[in-house]
Amino acid sequence: KGLQVAIDGPASAGKSTVAKVVAKRFNYIYVDTGAMYRVVTLKAIEEHLKLDDEIKILDLLKKINIEFKPGNPVQHVYVDGHEVTNQIRSENVTNNVSTVAALPAIRKELVKRQQQIAADGGVVMDGRDIGTTVLPNAEVKIFLIASVTERAERRYLENKKNGINVTLTDLKREIETRDYKDSHRKISPLKKAKDAIEIDTTSMTIDQVVDEISNLISK
Ligand code: C5P
Repeated sequence: KGLQVAIDGPASAGKSTVAKVVAKRFNYIYVDTGAMYRVVTLKAIEEHLKLDDEIKILDLLKKINIEFKPGNPVQHVYVDGHEVTNQIRSENVTNNVSTVAALPAIRKELVKRQQQIAADGGVVMDGRDIGTTVLPNAEVKIFLIASVTERAERRYLENKKNGINVTLTDLKREIETRDYKDSHRKISPLKKAKDAIEIDTTSMTIDQVVDEISNLISK
């Protein structure tokens, strides 16, 4: 058995990169809650639903099973056995996910699933509301931040590796728009939990961030 580790923060702050390494180090499971909101958004788009149609999207969510399998460099995401790892990162999904994530019924259902996964501990979960809402009793709570410029640059380099061409200006705009929507929604907005430890990763390496979090877990 192990602890519950909550990692929250704005878009592209490096949460999933760091969470994955920390989970591996402690032999914990890693849960990317953003991927769950992305899956719902992808399915809603595929079914041509209006993205504010809470009832229809909830109906759809109730019927689907979301699974994760460890993988490198990214974990694999499956919906009812079909892999959607790449589709959920598309620009279309990224630009619409905050709208779907603001629907209370969708959050309620996904939070329930996340709490079930984390119930026995031994979990590193990343998202926006883990420390405040999903796992309010998590033993370790981290709030990861970095400057917008740094976050856009990291995404730019990652994109370049994958042959994706989006300008720095566009990336910055996308990050800022999503952060604004995520921090201003009515239900469990992106927010640092009172008892979370803030780590500014702007001038830190991945290893340094991983070590700092690992020390908090081992304490
Ligand atoms: O973490 P990622 O950037 O993949 O998350 C995609 C979107 O999912 C966020 O911008 C946010 O709108 C939503 N989200 C959320 N609550 C979480 C995780 C993600 O609202 N716990």
